[in-house]
Amino acid sequence: MGHPLVVNSLELLRRPGSQKDVSVDVDTAEVGLDAEARLVPDSSIGVRLTCASTNDGIVVDGSLAVRYRGSCRRCLRSVDGDGVVEVHELYQETRTDPDAFPIENDQIDLRTMVRESVLLDVPEAPLCRVDCPGLCPICGVDLATETCSCVAESVDPRWSVLSELRDSLPE
Ligand SMILES: [Zn+2]
Ligand SMILES: [Zn+2]
Repeated sequence: MGHPLVVNSLELLRRPGSQKDVSVDVDTAEVGLDAEARLVPDSSIGVRLTCASTNDGIVVDGSLAVRYRGSCRRCLRSVDGDGVVEVHELYQETRTDPDAFPIENDQIDLRTMVRESVLLDVPEAPLCRVDCPGLCPICGVDLATETCSCVAESVDPRWSVLSELRDSLPE
């Protein structure tokens, strides 16, 4: 038995309209995804795909459930979360669609496609929580755990002009 993400294309192509479901959890390493992929290391990817043969090739539809890990875009804290990558791809023996993946040796290898789809779609900069206050833009303290006096002092320049004007007015 081969890898669950390598599907025999002969049976599918023999009868256009036939389908094969691929439902398997794989390790990130199995599809060549390492830490750079912004996924939780050694987590699993829930692969839920349907391969359907058409006159054009084999259409692969479905989703990939991943555990991502990124840095909060406001405070840089590490954040884990669940993400879903939608998949809609085409495999062809003779490529007429430049975006199609190849059918080689009567097989479609879903691993490359899973890897590329995850790399393209995992959210780049999540938030650790929706109301993350982030870092102080002036002194850099983490406003979720510390306070600083910068915010009170950093007044919008337009307002400081107004307050200077007000100060210069006679009483
Ligand atoms: Zn944050
Ligand atoms: Zn500050």
